[in-house]
Amino acid sequence: MNKSFDIVVIGAGLSSLMFLSRYIIKNKDQSILLIEKKIKKNINQTFCIWQGPDLIDIKKIYNLKARHAWNKIRVSYADEIVDKDISPYSYECFDGKETLKNLLNQCKGKITFKQGLDVKKIKNNKDLIEIITNKDSIYTKYVIDSRNKISKKQYKSAPSIRQAFIGNEIIAENEKFNSDVLTLMEFSNNKKDIEFTYTLPFSNKNALVETTLFTKNPSFTHIQKLHNQLLTKYKKFRSIKKEWGVLPMILSKDFIDNNNIPIGLSAGMARPSTGYSMMRIAQWVKSIENNKIESSNIKQFEFKPNKLLEWFDSIFLTVCYLWPHKAPIVFMRLFRNADIKSIIRFMSDVPTFRDIISIILSMPKIIMIHGLIKKYVK
Ligand SMILES: Cc1cc2nc3c(=O)[nH]c(=O)nc-3n(C[C@H](O)[C@H](O)[C@H](O)COP(=O)(O)OP(=O)(O)OC[C@H]3O[C@@H](n4cnc5c(N)ncnc54)[C@H](O)[C@@H]3O)c2cc1C
Repeated sequence: MNKSFDIVVIGAGLSSLMFLSRYIIKNKDQSILLIEKKIKKNINQTFCIWQGPDLIDIKKIYNLKARHAWNKIRVSYADEIVDKDISPYSYECFDGKETLKNLLNQCKGKITFKQGLDVKKIKNNKDLIEIITNKDSIYTKYVIDSRNKISKKQYKSAPSIRQAFIGNEIIAENEKFNSDVLTLMEFSNNKKDIEFTYTLPFSNKNALVETTLFTKNPSFTHIQKLHNQLLTKYKKFRSIKKEWGVLPMILSKDFIDNNNIPIGLSAGMARPSTGYSMMRIAQWVKSIENNKIESSNIKQFEFKPNKLLEWFDSIFLTVCYLWPHKAPIVFMRLFRNADIKSIIRFMSDVPTFRDIISIILSMPKIIMIHGLIKKYVK
């Protein structure tokens, strides 16, 4: 293998592949190496996003096929159920393996891809950057780094929490689901954490059912227990897939340093209030795909989250951190009172001024003002 490249991309996950699939269209003259530590990526992931007016059309731009789309959503807590028709928007889900495979195929022949290379250290030498891996060293002008470098320490205080979940795609023996309505959040009574069920019904017998916690201390043993309890509801079923994860709900981010460009979770591409990143990655890619990475313009490649949204998210996360038992009330008020289109644009990082007003007016004022005070008075 050639040991020197213009660009080395670390990690063959969602952010790297979404970036590369677009970047290589206009930038054919730079040599690019993609390295991935895993030989076989065998992780089940289901990527879901909102789609519709004013939102980046992921299927069209990335040449991807959605597995399923819903126009109706439900949130519920205790006796209250809020059902919303979200047309002309939709909530769409993409199979993770298919998505990554498809994006990687779009890069074939245009980049070099090496698996089994685990990056141990990056040395910023004067002329070229040296990437030391478990096998050998590689030299490059620019590094795009998608490794998740968020440390446990960063979760030590408010408003940083984590979203931890376990899900099974099941086939129930009897008809248990309404395939028209996606359950975004069915809250449980939980004083310590924010706990809810997330159900993606693909047909009336087939669904992905997840138990999710927004929590300070994720424990998969605990979540598995809660999830097992949930599954008993479906009585006779067969599990065909399992997925799990821990996503950051955090406001800190890494910055560009010495021609090292962080992307993905460490770069703040996961929206703090949802933990989701596919839309933010797409927004970042859109903002840079016409530029060629050079020393003179490297700062343009930094992901810059919307400051106002980060401020809202920090208040919301402060409430989640300090008073998790009140968070379901906040969500229920939001979905009951705000315009659903405003919520979707807000969650997808593209709210209008009116959307923000609609969100503010829908929120329970006292809880949010307490969150605001706690954010500033520690
Ligand atoms: C189960 C699951 C479901 C999710 N669902 C959604 C969803 O519905 N919607 C949404 O928007 N987001 C979702 N997310 C969140 C987010 O979109 C994903 O976490 C996404 O994969 C983040 O992309 P990334 O490139 O930052 O990280 P990854 O996709 O994790 O990519 C990082 C890559 O770097 C590699 N790597 C790490 N260390 C090294 C090293 N030392 N050397 C070489 N390679 C290395 C890893 O093996 C990995 O392949 C989900 C996440 C999970 C886990």
